[in-house]
Amino acid sequence: MEMVPTDEFRTVAEPARHAERLAADLGRTDLEMRARLVQADVLRREGDAVSSGRIAHEVNAWAVERGDAYLQARSHMLLALFFRHVGDLADALGHAVQAVARTGDEVPARIRARHLSVLAMVLHENGSSGEARQRAEEALAVATAAGDDEMMLQVLNNLAYSAYDDGDRERAQNFISEIRAISARCGLTLGAHVLDTIARVEMAEGRYAGAEETLRPILDGSARHLVSEAVSLAGCLLTVAEAQRLRGAFDVAQATLDRAAAVCEERGIASYAAQVREERAELYAAIGLFREAYEEYLLFHAESQALQSAEREARARALQAVFETEEARRESTRFRELAERDALTGLYNRRYVDEHLGALLERAPLSVALVDLDHFKRVNDTLSHAAGDLVLQEVAGLLAEAAADTAAGGAVAARLGGEEFLLIFPETDAVEAARRCERVRRAIGEHSWGPVTGELPVTASIGVSTAIDGRITPSALLAQADRNLYAAKRAGRNRVVADPA
Ligand code: GH3
Ligand code: MG
Ligand code: MG
Repeated sequence: MEMVPTDEFRTVAEPARHAERLAADLGRTDLEMRARLVQADVLRREGDAVSSGRIAHEVNAWAVERGDAYLQARSHMLLALFFRHVGDLADALGHAVQAVARTGDEVPARIRARHLSVLAMVLHENGSSGEARQRAEEALAVATAAGDDEMMLQVLNNLAYSAYDDGDRERAQNFISEIRAISARCGLTLGAHVLDTIARVEMAEGRYAGAEETLRPILDGSARHLVSEAVSLAGCLLTVAEAQRLRGAFDVAQATLDRAAAVCEERGIASYAAQVREERAELYAAIGLFREAYEEYLLFHAESQALQSAEREARARALQAVFETEEARRESTRFRELAERDALTGLYNRRYVDEHLGALLERAPLSVALVDLDHFKRVNDTLSHAAGDLVLQEVAGLLAEAAADTAAGGAVAARLGGEEFLLIFPETDAVEAARRCERVRRAIGEHSWGPVTGELPVTASIGVSTAIDGRITPSALLAQADRNLYAAKRAGRNRVVADPA
């Protein structure tokens, strides 16, 4: 039961309940606990995170007390997935590490490989791509040595998707060749999420018709689906609609989106419903119907925000149900954090900068960059204030993404007010800061603004200044950045100006 393939998870629900009763009759609490964890895994896949987390929490406490390594490993793995589900990646990583640490060599290969690949997935989501890759490759080696083709396909799919997500198309392509080879060798048909990964990689290479072809078995219903049929169908329809738009087949793309919308409506899949609207907005913009694009985009934005807040509430409730005291601690940190956040964009606000920039200067060389949108008044005047707000939120997203790039060194992103933002780069000299700002400037200018502003471009001017040591005051540093920003505006906007040499 612990080793059943993922897409057959429902078949073990009843046998696990039976096993739990038998174990109780025998007085074998350890086996009872194992049977309960199997049920917890089924509950999790069915969407009942709270019950699953609660069981994992209880079994973990029992296993720690008894020093039962195997049950500790299993319960930590489920706790890792629980924390990942509620969006707490740091705790998810902690549990995933514990799960692998307690998984001995005597544990069956499939389970060892699964624990390693959960760790790899959580590492990837925490931004540690290198470590993630190492663990995933270890999982692949374990599955390969055991001749476990099903598991190999799963791990290869994760590897391919991570490589694609990191922008490494060649590596992604290699993993896909391996996937195809295994499926040909043992006659395993590929599941929807594997085909979707393949199609995404094909699209990244500009092979739009190929991507459509890859997903055809899902669209015409001739392939087997993993986990949930409707959800994977909706996801694949979205991928196909994007491929069709990109190859210029607007009419078929429209029809595919209609089908995706119908599937979401019929099955109540809110997350993809919002994405269908986003893709429809892109499609309208591609056809040149900017008004329709904008209206659709507003709907997308409203729906995805409602979805996010509903998800946040559900997560908070789940955490509370499983870990009441921990939740209270988390809440007080959350409220302290809220006071330092900007309400429109979620970035840090001016209060945060005022309170922390002084201390950050100890990490000199430190650079700051003032990012000011060019002719932003035009967006408000020609479109609307609401459109302006959307632009600010999108720009904030791009800045947050740049700041979260820990491979590049990490940064703090804040909104100082209006259409003026600040990036703080600790331990970054002038040359490196200018390079990173140039990337930010390009990311803003090249963002797909069509759905929001139609043909109106969005660009930014950036003034960078660097503190070589901690002797300069925060306000003097910001004043120098402001002078450089002014110089960038005067020189024609849409450019980066750093300190004079
Ligand atoms: P420049 O290239 O010189 O920076 O021109 P600009 O139009 O961007 O600069 P200016 O400072 O003259 O105008 C900024 C505008 O930003 C004025 C104001 O209406 C708008 N603005 C400030 N805060 C907000 C906001 O929260 N939402 C929206 N939609 N607009 C805002
Ligand atoms: Mg401006
Ligand atoms: Mg301004």
